[in-house]
Amino acid sequence: MKVRYSYLGQQFADPDPVLAEIKKLVATGDFTLGKPLVEFEKRFADLIGVKHAIGVGSGTDALKLPLKAVGIGHGDEVITAANTFIATVGAIAELGARPVFVDALDNFCLDVSQVEKAITPRTKAIMPVHFTGEMPDMPELVKIAKKHNLPIVEDACQAILAECDGRRAGTWGVAGGFSLHPLKNLNVWGDGGIAVTNDDAVAARLRLLRNHGMANRDEIEILGYNSRLDSLQAVVGNWLIPQTADITAKRIENGAYYDRHFGQISGVTIPSRSPRIKRVFHLYMVFAEDRDALHKHCLDAGISAKVHYPIPVYRQRGLSHFGHKLGDFPVTDRQADRVLSFPVDQHLSREEQDHVIETVREFYARRR
Ligand SMILES: *Cc1c(COP(=O)(O)O)cnc(C)c1O
Repeated sequence: MKVRYSYLGQQFADPDPVLAEIKKLVATGDFTLGKPLVEFEKRFADLIGVKHAIGVGSGTDALKLPLKAVGIGHGDEVITAANTFIATVGAIAELGARPVFVDALDNFCLDVSQVEKAITPRTKAIMPVHFTGEMPDMPELVKIAKKHNLPIVEDACQAILAECDGRRAGTWGVAGGFSLHPLKNLNVWGDGGIAVTNDDAVAARLRLLRNHGMANRDEIEILGYNSRLDSLQAVVGNWLIPQTADITAKRIENGAYYDRHFGQISGVTIPSRSPRIKRVFHLYMVFAEDRDALHKHCLDAGISAKVHYPIPVYRQRGLSHFGHKLGDFPVTDRQADRVLSFPVDQHLSREEQDHVIETVREFYARRR
């Protein structure tokens, strides 16, 4: 039995309803900042429970533009997680700012207790990453941010509908960014992102920033970017957004099923699962003894298991100018050697999950 990682073929098995809407859009020519985008932004804001949602060109821009909106620029430092996806770092660095990394906890999120000692006079913002769909201790982080008068911009790209203490990802900071990339929980047919905020002034700035800083056809208010979510992608988003609650529920159910069964396999360690967090399993990741051999065993059995990530971002060649070396973030390093991700999406069948569990069980049984 093959267990694939990408489910996009299943998700869009019948594209006709979306194509019918796109056909209508084409007839209007309303391709940029069009009516479908206005509708999608309204629905997304309602989904998260915020005042404003602003569609942008990518998840990366859904982080970069809010950072810019709160004044981040050249020479500033932004505190973020050492174990994140490159896009977090890219968003910070594109503004000429420097990412200052903090190590992770075994829940894959920022170790909030280490944030304060990373603060310097140049620190201008904190960007926690809700990695895998998990969340760090947000009340504690907010306390630290308030004490030092620093804005929080949340990287919620993997965490749509995740919650800490009953409060949604993206609503803790001054703004939060979500990705609509095809592999994310709520996705479109290409690149896309959306930033959320309850702050009217930040929302107004984001709307300017994504559209060349144009106040209107003739007037440029500030220097901005070309980073609009296409009307066409908003059509796809509008079609999918009513399914977000079900997608989330199914991923949580699949994650719980894995936890129950993997929890009985010595060789596999389930990450810590705080009851304060509603984690939405963008990724289902465990710690595995002899990870590389297990990974190969799974691939040989037709299971598309993945490693997020074998080389932590802080040690990547392209970031060598930041001057980090192996061992700077030991928890992140340990995760790089031990984590393995299994498909957990809403289209995964129970049979496929059982095959994954059985394959892992068999691997460890054979070596004892
Ligand atoms: C996907 C993702 C992003 C944004 O990526 P895009 O490809 O630009 O949408 C940012 N941070 C994290 C943690 C992500 O997983």
